[in-house]
Amino acid sequence: NQQILLASRPDGVVIPENFELATAAVPEPGQGEMLLQTIYMSVDPYMRGRMNDMKSYVPPFQIGEPLQAGIVAKVVKSNGGKFPEGTYLTGMGLWANYMVTGGEGFQPVDPDLAPLSYYLGILGMPGMTAYVGLKGVAELKEGEQLFVSAASGAVGQVVGQIGKNMGCHVAGSAGSDDKVAYLKDELGFDEAFNYKTSDIHKATRAANPNGIDVYFENVGGPQLEAVINNLNFNARVALCGMIAVYDNKLEDMPPGPRNLAILVGRSVKMQGFIVFNYPDLCKEWIQVGAGWLKEGKLKYRESVADGIENAPQAFMGVLKGRNFGKQVVRLADD
Ligand code: NDP
Repeated sequence: NQQILLASRPDGVVIPENFELATAAVPEPGQGEMLLQTIYMSVDPYMRGRMNDMKSYVPPFQIGEPLQAGIVAKVVKSNGGKFPEGTYLTGMGLWANYMVTGGEGFQPVDPDLAPLSYYLGILGMPGMTAYVGLKGVAELKEGEQLFVSAASGAVGQVVGQIGKNMGCHVAGSAGSDDKVAYLKDELGFDEAFNYKTSDIHKATRAANPNGIDVYFENVGGPQLEAVINNLNFNARVALCGMIAVYDNKLEDMPPGPRNLAILVGRSVKMQGFIVFNYPDLCKEWIQVGAGWLKEGKLKYRESVADGIENAPQAFMGVLKGRNFGKQVVRLADD
């Protein structure tokens, strides 16, 4: 049973030495418990925050303990546990091949409805985040002008496709030409640009010729400033994440957008949100998303790393944009 422990807290950028690969005995389930074998493990940007010793909406990881992540796992032994052997579950687990649980917070998933890894992405937390941000926070309406950053990522690719399915003009930015081509040629984005090789202000304007009614914010930094200049009257900004500053300490944060005054005159609503504070919309998304997948109205791309020993690299890759689509780690055959 291999595990990845938090060896030290990062001082700015995450480095391999912050992690330790350890071997532990496969645990025995006690009465009423189950032994889970992890099939897929998620690595997500929010885990960067949990590496710091800081009070947040989720508690920090502890040094010397396995990190935690969303997992899809199989019940391989049940000692009178909540679900029978052979059941596939998803929930918050450990960076480990095996773990024991009473089943709290785990839900069964249907392996016939979608590939198992999808429950960590399009039909899991990132897909729900896209739906919550657009429906619960930004209140996107049919035919509006939608812009999303980190557009090819786990959340962004779903945001754009929900927008297209609602008849919106959809534009996005991403960090490579391949990602931009994917957005336009595969996902049907109306416009997309590479923010690393463009003048971000000019490119944002050109990609949104009728302005922006809804901005789904994933990155922060210069992209946010460029968007603000192009917001329409009564625009909504759903603050989902700001990955561009996750590695920065407060004293090293880049200065914020200089044009916030625009929000006043244009009556813009800007609101942060955490996906799990909208449990009804999360449930609704599983129905809507699974239906759209079946009808071919949603495409999905993921990056799969193999083996728990590669989880730290996969996680550091997400913070650097090396992933193309949702990053997962495969620990066992599904
Ligand atoms: P992604 O799959 O989009 O991976 C992260 C991407 O961010 C990278 O691939 C990279 O894409 C981009 N990125 C990395 N560094 C920078 C940078 N300095 N500037 C601009 N872009 C950068 O991750 P997710 O879809 O899982 O997450 C997207 C956002 O949503 C994150 O901010 C995350 O924290 C947030 N989130 C918030 C939730 C909530 O409840 N509020 C829930 C889930 C996610 P590229 O190559 O295009 O630069």
